[in-house]
Amino acid sequence: MTQTLIKSAATAESDRPVGAPEGFGGLRSQDPGAVSIGGRGATKAPSKAPMVGAHDQPQSMCPAFGSLRVALRMRRTASVLVGSACCAYGLTFTSHFYGARRSVGYVPFDSETLVTGKLFEDVREAAYRLADPERYDAVVIINLCVPSASGVPLRLLPESINGVRIIGIDVPGFGVATHAEAKDVLSAAMLRRARQEAELGPVQAPRGARSTRPTVALIGEMFPVDPVTLGMLLEPLGLAAGPVVPTREWRELYGALAGVAAAAIHPQYTGVCNEFAVAGRPVVGSAPVGYEGTAAWLEGIAAACSVSAANLDSAKNRWLPAIKQALAGSPIKGRITLSGYEGSELLVGRLLVESGADLRYVGTACGRTQWSAPDCDWLESKGVRVQYRATLEQDLAAMAEFAPELVVGTTPVVQKAKEAATPALYFTNLISARPLIGPAGAGSLAQVINAAMASRPRFAAMDAFFGAAGERFAADLGARAPGGFGTGAAIATEDLASC
Ligand code: SF4
Repeated sequence: MTQTLIKSAATAESDRPVGAPEGFGGLRSQDPGAVSIGGRGATKAPSKAPMVGAHDQPQSMCPAFGSLRVALRMRRTASVLVGSACCAYGLTFTSHFYGARRSVGYVPFDSETLVTGKLFEDVREAAYRLADPERYDAVVIINLCVPSASGVPLRLLPESINGVRIIGIDVPGFGVATHAEAKDVLSAAMLRRARQEAELGPVQAPRGARSTRPTVALIGEMFPVDPVTLGMLLEPLGLAAGPVVPTREWRELYGALAGVAAAAIHPQYTGVCNEFAVAGRPVVGSAPVGYEGTAAWLEGIAAACSVSAANLDSAKNRWLPAIKQALAGSPIKGRITLSGYEGSELLVGRLLVESGADLRYVGTACGRTQWSAPDCDWLESKGVRVQYRATLEQDLAAMAEFAPELVVGTTPVVQKAKEAATPALYFTNLISARPLIGPAGAGSLAQVINAAMASRPRFAAMDAFFGAAGERFAADLGARAPGGFGTGAAIATEDLASC
């Protein structure tokens, strides 16, 4: 399904420098009016701490998958990868494994095209060949590790061709730590372009009818029920849920910017939050999870949108008792450690604590941002250790320290837990793919968590039956090979469902 786009002749179109390069990390340019919001792309002075990227501590799949997935889920959007063939193979394989059903363009290179600059011309020709306004609103071109490191200047591509937007981004593993944060890189680049277009004049209307109430844009890929629940929570405040960013089509970007505020449900979208801030839209962090989380979130939204005290009380009176009842009806008892790389780990942690779980540790591969600060503070006030940029070693150390009755984690963590006969659940497939928000989320975790914890005797029986079989030298081919494969190779497809 990979579509190879090779330059055959130089295009006559002249280069037209465009505005801000839509790159990554500290290299991403800022609008003059950008406010300091922390995280990648912030205007504040960079931290002196060395940045730990995916290659230093491989806790996540190739980060570019996050950007590619955002592009592949958008209507009328073409995606092109620029990088090593093995990287493109892995990324397209994973995309199609998760049902992309779209071709992914690929611009190959060799040493000569890389050093002579011909690769950039090949990329530009690929953009021209794809830019058919009958088929596409946008062509997304993603520089992978080698072209990013070599400085292939996607910012010099035409801003648009035949009315089709050309969006070039750098998403190297050494600059973007997780695929969750790579979703932000592309989403922010698109939102910035949409904002610039809206500033110039009228833009495309939403596909459906416009909301009669002011809207709040929702930030983060969520379980499909969650945006619906968020809309219900907002209704007594006199508000409605706006589009979810990342959006499913270009015109929704305008709708998101047209809201009165944005809710950073997933806190790693710092670039997107920055774009909303530049557009004059207040951003509210955390999310309505559990009783206390929902109360605090409703208050935050009410303050950001100047909602009356009466409407805020009405919303609280309508939703908080239902959430309390749902939590009481689905208690979780047991000691748990939790880790993942989706960005929603702290929210899940809050829900577990409010459900009664003895949660000791939350590790997230994502970095600290101001949008998750309320969740971090809340968890720490309950005695939970929170570790941002958590490494596999830190997750495993927490497991060893707290001897949990259930481990929720990534594949290598779950593998270690099961080896120790400890029940374990994959965060990505089994926990983050559930509703978390409001009353629907309040009871959603208990069933799967309690069932897993109840399986402990089964693990003990299996452990006793198999004894040392399959351990150490008898484990697998990798363990026998010189150097072995180690746990780093154990990031398997269970963890790839960042849907
Ligand atoms: S693009 Fe970089 S991080 Fe991704 S697979 Fe290739 S080398 Fe690894």
